[in-house]
Amino acid sequence: MHQILPSYKDPLFSILLIITIILVTVIATHGLSIYSKKRSKDDLLEFLNRFKSSDCVFDSNIIIFESSMLKPLTLLAKSFDISGEYHRAINIYLYLIDNTDDYRVKSRLLNELGELYLKAGFLERAKHIFIKILKYSPRNIKSLYHLSIVYEMLNEYDKALEIVEPLNILKENTEDLQNYLEYKKVLINHKNSKDKKIAILEKMIKDRPSLYRIILSDLFILNYSIAWRTLDYTRIKEVLDILWMLPKSKLDLDIISKHDTLSTIYYSKGYIEKPCVKSDIFSVDMLAISKKSGFDIGDLDFLYLCDKCKEFFSLSFNRCPNCMAINSIIVEEKIAKKC
Ligand SMILES: [Zn+2]
Repeated sequence: MHQILPSYKDPLFSILLIITIILVTVIATHGLSIYSKKRSKDDLLEFLNRFKSSDCVFDSNIIIFESSMLKPLTLLAKSFDISGEYHRAINIYLYLIDNTDDYRVKSRLLNELGELYLKAGFLERAKHIFIKILKYSPRNIKSLYHLSIVYEMLNEYDKALEIVEPLNILKENTEDLQNYLEYKKVLINHKNSKDKKIAILEKMIKDRPSLYRIILSDLFILNYSIAWRTLDYTRIKEVLDILWMLPKSKLDLDIISKHDTLSTIYYSKGYIEKPCVKSDIFSVDMLAISKKSGFDIGDLDFLYLCDKCKEFFSLSFNRCPNCMAINSIIVEEKIAKKC
């Protein structure tokens, strides 16, 4: 025996031992990696099967998937998404995810599917998808943002705020998001009395300028006297629609009469008699000049532009309905004929 195996003191034995250990380690690591990938894939497929239903238009048993179908089908799904046919787009993504082996492609498609569920209002499904993506890719910034939106829409503000920290770690600027979520949390908290809410909002509007338009709008509903007191005269253009659409009963004539822009707005609107044409807002001044000349036939219409995605909307928003951005609204007024 001693003659067959080298002695442990033999340098050849040591070299053989080291090579054996390295080989065993490499094989074990490779095996674990394959097992882990297979488990992830099985886990993902099992997860996706929960969303499948008989209404999926693509049956993989009938339509055989080929890799060349990925791009055109993705484009088709996007066109359904743009036209608001979310149901059809969802079906295509489910089919593609089911038939794609590349995990990176699958992850991208999964993110698109989560966004579609979010847009279509399937919040629980969207939540599960983003949580699943983050389980395997915890640094996925897009999914973190989307998950915070889902929690916000589910009124789970503490969970939404928990996502701010990982975003900060990933060097994202989350100041506006945090302010917005904390504001929403105050507003939705049923334990806060009306007076307490007003007091908190009054402080917030001073300390957090990005929330100016949103909070001022709430204050005009909760307590219009306080809203008038907190009005920032340098930011009237941002809230022109809110001021224009106020009922006459909510005007503070003492404040309005001391400020030319406000006086012009409400002279144009027909709420005050004393002529004033000094608003520095072109449309409002035109209406005031017209009214002063005896042509009281004009009104203002408003459109709302998202500064991020450049889409126009006919209704005001806190979060852009298209790209979900916050603090991206730009109010644009135009002269219209009075109804
Ligand atoms: Zn947008």
